[in-house]
Formats: sequence, C-alpha cells, structure tokens
Amino acid sequence: MSRKVLVIAGDGIGPEIAVEARKVLDVANERFNLDIEFDEALLGGSAYDTVGVPLPDETLEKAKASDAILFGAIGGPKWDNNERHLRPEQGLLDIRSKLELFGNLRPAILYPQLADASSLKPEVVSGLDILIVRELTGGIYFGEPRGIRTLENGEREGYNTYKYSESEIERIARVAFEAAQKRSGKLCSVDKANVLEATVLWREVLDRMAPEYPDVELSHMYVDNAAMQLVRAPKQFDVLVTGNMFGDILSDAAAMLTGSIGMLPSASLDKNNRGMYEPCHGSAPDIAGQGKANPLAMILSAAMMLRYSLNAPEAADAIEAAVSSVLDQGLRTPDIFTEGDTLVNTSGMGEAVAVALKQ
Ligand code: NAD
Repeated sequence: MSRKVLVIAGDGIGPEIAVEARKVLDVANERFNLDIEFDEALLGGSAYDTVGVPLPDETLEKAKASDAILFGAIGGPKWDNNERHLRPEQGLLDIRSKLELFGNLRPAILYPQLADASSLKPEVVSGLDILIVRELTGGIYFGEPRGIRTLENGEREGYNTYKYSESEIERIARVAFEAAQKRSGKLCSVDKANVLEATVLWREVLDRMAPEYPDVELSHMYVDNAAMQLVRAPKQFDVLVTGNMFGDILSDAAAMLTGSIGMLPSASLDKNNRGMYEPCHGSAPDIAGQGKANPLAMILSAAMMLRYSLNAPEAADAIEAAVSSVLDQGLRTPDIFTEGDTLVNTSGMGEAVAVALKQ
C-alpha cells in the first residue's frame, strides 16, 4: 500500500531545505521500495500571500489525508505586522492543534564530527544524546482567556493563561515514559512547581504514573535550574519532559549544544503516531535565498518520519548514516564550518547526502 507524505515547504529557507529533503527521500523511496506518494501544500506567509489565510482549508484537508507531513519553516518580517490570526505562526499553531499533535520529540545529538562547532567545551558535550519531549498543543500558548485589555485607570495590561488538564499531562507523560523505556530509563520532568499551580499538578500526575513504569527512574527539576544544568553538565540528562513554553526555550538552548540549530530535527505526533516532522529552527530570513541554510535538520526530520510514522526504520537508519558519512567527508554549511572543513552550500549538502545514500 502506498504511503502518502505531504510536503509543506513554507517560507524563508523552508523551500530551499525542502528541495534537499525531497532529493534524499526520492533516493530512499527507490532504494527501499517505500512506495511513497508526495503531495504539496501551502502554510504560513506563502499561504497568506496566495489565499489570504496562513492555514488554508485545503492544506488541512490534505494533511488529514496523509500518513505524515514533512514541514520546512514559516514566518518572516514581511508578515510580522499582520493581525495575530493572520500571522504565519498562527497557521502553524493551528495545524498542530487541529491535528492534535501534542507530543513533540526533539532529539539533541552532538555528532562527534561537530564537537568543535558547539559553543561548549568538547569534554562537556562530546557524546551528547538527549531527547526533549515537549507538550505542544496546550499550556500558556493556547490558554484562554488571553489578550490585551484596558484597565479602569486607562493603563493597558497583557495577560495569558497557563493551564494543563490532568489528561493533557497524562498523554504527554506517557510519550515521555515510553521514550525513556526505549533509551536509558532516565526521565527528568521540568516544571516550576515552586511558583505555578499548573505545574504543581503536572508534577503530581507524573509521580502518580511513575509506578506504572518501574524500569524508568523519574526525577523532577525546576526550569531555571534545568536551563543552568543544560549548559553546565548536559550529559546528566537522557529524556526531559516539559510543557509547551519551557520546552520551546530549553530545546533551543539544547540546540546550541549540538553546534547549530540547523542540525536538529523534530517530530510532533498524535496519539496514533501520525505526525508532522520539521527542523527545530525557523525560517531564518537573515540567510534566506543565499544558499547558506543547512538542510540537515530537515533531512534528519525526514529520517524521523520514516522511523515513527512510516514504519521504515531501515531507511531512517540509512539516511542518518549518510548524514554522518557526509560529515566524515568534512563537508560543512557555513553554520557548522570551522577551519580546515570544506564549505558547501545548501544544495551541495543535500546532494552529498543523496549520493551517500545511493551507495
Ligand atoms: P530562526 O531559527 O529562523 O533563526 C535563528 C538563527 O539561526 C538565525 O541566525 C538563522 O540564520 C540561524 N538558522 C536557522 N536555521 C538555520 C539553518 N537551517 N541553517 C543555518 N542557520 C540557521 O529563528 P528566528 O530568527 O527567531 O525567527 C525567524 C522567523 O522564523 C520568525 O518569523 C519566526 O516566527 C519564525 N519561526 C518559525 C518556526 C517554525 O516554522 N517552526 C520556528 C521558530 C521561528
């Protein structure tokens, strides 16, 4: 039976890196007889420019009809002054929420070849391999009421609501406990239970579930400490689980440990492991159209897609091995370049991975 993949390139560097991911997937499709059928759709600023909304109905329908979505990035200064509901970012939040993609997996792996590109000392980061599990469809990014209101004294006040229900906490906790079972059995839950009631409940639910996973050692850490520990001694962590906002921030910090945000893939899954796969970075308007973007995060996202949603782990392993072999050859886009490496552009990097995958 054929597998349907929807490719959403998006804005900025999105289309440049999507082309490279397709190159690699086309090779995988043939080499492993995957029978993948590709379709394309608009999201974000490009959708707004074409049809007037950041998430067109057609895109949502195509997304629902596909087995997995491979997504580049959205956003850019051109749309920054749009009303909130017409901003590219709103299209992304909406598609995640309408597809109920609550489980965001963000691995942060330091390829040994890139130890020098990390902002931390090689001995602190070498061998780093952590997984951040971020709740993606709840918390303060979605909580109502929200807005900017004028108080009686005429002063304006911005406000948001941070809330999590027990069932929302439980379902993301299950993803994290199960991920920890498949890895080293260590799970650290990050919260701010000393200040925020929403996370007092978060901690309670995690503790209540822990006996169901006797092979997982659960610990808790406040988010401020977690931020500090991530840059002090990141290898103490294996799987981290946290809410939407803390996960957003901590996963970007973890990204820099690995050398470049251009190396980090992610998966956002629903309860049936159907998902959307995307690089952790944004649309990088500062380098868009210049051939400087690193396509590896998107290529590695395609590998995650093959593993988690399309049941093709061999093809996923082969893509990851091809990426590693290209790094062994010393090929680097500018974001991971250090003295002595061979500088390549976006398409040079994609092409090299496709060639390595053919062999
Ligand atoms: P960004 O991730 O786009 O860029 C941050 C920095 O990292 C920039 O210097 C950029 O050049 C660099 N960078 C990012 N990806 C890279 C890659 N593949 N190769 C090399 N360098 C790379 O974050 P930002 O600048 O805060 O946001 C830019 C736009 O992206 C905004 O409109 C924002 O809303 C949007 N955004 C979208 C997503 C998404 O689509 N998932 C995520 C974050 C931000």
